[in-house]
Amino acid sequence: MNRRNLLKGLGLGLAGGAINLAQAAPNEKYRQATNGLPPLKITNVKAIATAPLGTELIVVKVETNEPGLYGLGCATFRQRARPVVSAVDDYLNDFCQGKDPANIEDIWQTAYVSSYWRNGPVLNNALSGLDQALWDIKGKRAGLPVYELLGGKCRFAIPCYAHASGRNNEEVIESAQGLINEGYRYMRIQLGGYGAAGVSDEPDFKAAGFGTDKDNYMNPYLYLSSIPKMFEAVRKACGEEIELLHDIHERVQPNEAINMIKALEEYRPFFIEDPFSPENMGYFPLLRQQTAVPIAMGELFNSPHEWLEPMTERLFEFIRIHISQIGGITPAMKVARLGEWFNVRTAWHGPGDVSPVGHAANAHIDYAIWNFGIQERARMLLSEVMQEVFPGTPTVKDGYMYVNEAPGLGVDIDEKLAAKYPIPDKQLNSWTQLRKRDGTAVRP
Ligand code: MG
Repeated sequence: MNRRNLLKGLGLGLAGGAINLAQAAPNEKYRQATNGLPPLKITNVKAIATAPLGTELIVVKVETNEPGLYGLGCATFRQRARPVVSAVDDYLNDFCQGKDPANIEDIWQTAYVSSYWRNGPVLNNALSGLDQALWDIKGKRAGLPVYELLGGKCRFAIPCYAHASGRNNEEVIESAQGLINEGYRYMRIQLGGYGAAGVSDEPDFKAAGFGTDKDNYMNPYLYLSSIPKMFEAVRKACGEEIELLHDIHERVQPNEAINMIKALEEYRPFFIEDPFSPENMGYFPLLRQQTAVPIAMGELFNSPHEWLEPMTERLFEFIRIHISQIGGITPAMKVARLGEWFNVRTAWHGPGDVSPVGHAANAHIDYAIWNFGIQERARMLLSEVMQEVFPGTPTVKDGYMYVNEAPGLGVDIDEKLAAKYPIPDKQLNSWTQLRKRDGTAVRP
């Protein structure tokens, strides 16, 4: 119910003028203090786990005492999905009982410290599910899409980049040309799988029986020498008009990453992503002294302590946070506003392990902030089954993303259908497990 109808229902039409406070019953007084909206209460908070495409997705549903009024938020942390479900069902539900869902900032601040220890990925994701659901509720109640509540549109749609990859330069070029034909102007180019897997030789640790069969191997020197050649080939084949991005995904030694980025200067990358692991943030001043290639950083950030100083020192150009990993729309808007003053643009993480609700949250922010940079588009948004389980999933056309313009975040969930795709009992994906030739573990 939108606000005008609510006011009408309560006999508080705008034409009726102000209510006489002295005559108002206490609850009427309260209604005036809350802009005429009747008190709302949270009645239930629950996690919904589903894996329509095999990837564990967690969505939080916040229900209220107004029949049919609920909100949805993304709490997807696929690598530790079940602890997030527990953090929501066993703790946040109890914490939120009876609270007014209108007070998003207050609920965020109090939930944030309710565990005393904070800023970890499990609790931040649970908090994000709650936070995004509260924004969804606020939008539904106001009869407006969330981006309107965040300040309205700064652009007609959201430019996206998609992934072009292959086992060799020819395959990468073919993949990039396919995206150009689909209307994309921005593309991330990658050689091989994670860690350039598939373009590497066989490691000694496998022959020696060290580690597990599933462990991946990366030959850093093969990777470092292949990427400038890939950029040269793609630029030559696809021209100057398109924007090229690349993800180092940490993993190589910081000096090696810096040297490779310098070698990419002549190909004018739009940005190079995650040159260092979070443990190696101290190398940024050296990188900045060496090259002005735009850098995107922060996919692995969880805590404000990780981004505050580097952003205010302009150590990178794009902030690349995974929004559910920092606690939702409320903190992401603060990061975006911080970036505006330091010329840091946004490039929110948008992979397959963000639910369609989370992609919508990214997109609503993308519309509303001036210092938007680019949005990663996940292929899963195009999947039919995903659109069935999550009606209202954002759409992508000619390289632009659009949200469903319904009030709130615009994405619903078919819970019965979602239940047909349970999350696996064990974590099946081990892509983070990467080793050097001798078997030493590599940090992403
Ligand atoms: Mg990345």
